[in-house]
Amino acid sequence: MPRIFKFGGILLKNAEGLRKMASLVSEFQCEPLVVVVSAIGKTTNALEELQRIAAAKDEQRLQQHYFALKHQHMELIQSLELSNESQLMEQVEKEFRNLWDALNQEYEDPYLAYDQIVSFGERFSTRIVSAVLKEAAVPVHFIDATQVIFTDNRHTQAAINWPMTEKTIQARVVPVLENHQTVVIQGFVGACEHGNSTTLGREGSDFTAAILAYVLEADEVCIWKDVPGLMNSDPKLFSDAVKLPHVSYNEAIELAFYGASVIHPRTIQPLKKKGILLKVCSFFDPASEPTRINSDESDDNTIPKIIVKKNQTLLSISSRDLSFMAEEKLMKVFQVLSQNRLHINLMQNSAVSFSVIFDTQEHKRDQVIEELKEHFVLKYNTGLELITIRHYNDAVLEKLSRGKNIFLTQKTRSTIQLLLSTE
Ligand code: ASP
Ligand code: MG
Repeated sequence: MPRIFKFGGILLKNAEGLRKMASLVSEFQCEPLVVVVSAIGKTTNALEELQRIAAAKDEQRLQQHYFALKHQHMELIQSLELSNESQLMEQVEKEFRNLWDALNQEYEDPYLAYDQIVSFGERFSTRIVSAVLKEAAVPVHFIDATQVIFTDNRHTQAAINWPMTEKTIQARVVPVLENHQTVVIQGFVGACEHGNSTTLGREGSDFTAAILAYVLEADEVCIWKDVPGLMNSDPKLFSDAVKLPHVSYNEAIELAFYGASVIHPRTIQPLKKKGILLKVCSFFDPASEPTRINSDESDDNTIPKIIVKKNQTLLSISSRDLSFMAEEKLMKVFQVLSQNRLHINLMQNSAVSFSVIFDTQEHKRDQVIEELKEHFVLKYNTGLELITIRHYNDAVLEKLSRGKNIFLTQKTRSTIQLLLSTE
């Protein structure tokens, strides 16, 4: 029963981080271990930008951005002073040439284009991580995620084809572990039946770790983070943020659903099904106690947990003839939102109006408005903040809403959500 480690790209952005990763992996290399890696630093954002530039056919900017990203990676490789540097350079050069080809291809479907381009971040990072581990004498076996993680072709948010994925992981990953080798694999990436790369949604490497854990019946999954563990609020926003020693799977699912950025929302389900322990571990203080996530729900309501989502848009949709916003009209709204991959963070309806709140993404918003305006009257507000409090109490509520303009509130026994104006 192996252990699964997942390293976020921020941790691997320089030689120091990569060496630290290698020393953590070395400590566990005697046991079966799978290392899931995401793209280095802000590479995924840079690739998203490259895709937009390629779609706009801005050749000059494309070259500039492409070479900047390549330079970053090559500089990082040089700073590692590896004995096998030239081999690694060659591998990464080759991947960059493939990226250039992918950027210059014609795509009819922008989501397909996204996946073919954005998945390169993990291709680069796994090459680098493998080389660093080899240098540290870890018996590495690199497995390409497109060979074992199979999905449908809903590009950018692909769903797992579990039977095929299970069969292939059994066939390809298990023998490597039995051979006492450490597996290195890309997070976030899969392949559909047409052989095209797919991706599992932003920050999806955690989910890859959970998929592997599920199929391999892992003992535990450790997500290594630049924070001490799962916190009750974002320490950058709240100076009194505290680490949660333990939460249940259900609580973690709720927190991820409401936007806690520490764990990808799809991660928990496969682990819960098999009762696999998830640990959120501190990369910078590995000896400290991690947050443990398992089925025990006994202490879920002891500490209020706050999730802040900034930069929200509130879109209000009403029918042109003031008729009720009932099932059929809502169906149309959901269809348009879903086709545009616009995820709803909160919704509320009255007789003649239906409101949705989502992360502001101008391009998607404008497209949605374009497609809905024929049938509906639309109004929107931007610059809003959505605060969710799990296990709220009066003191926290008062502290968070004091002096703010509340646009709407939604409340259940355990959760309250406030949409606030920050102006
Ligand atoms: N590199 C991908 C992203 O930044 C996946 C991940 O980090 O988990 O979204
Ligand atoms: Mg990433």
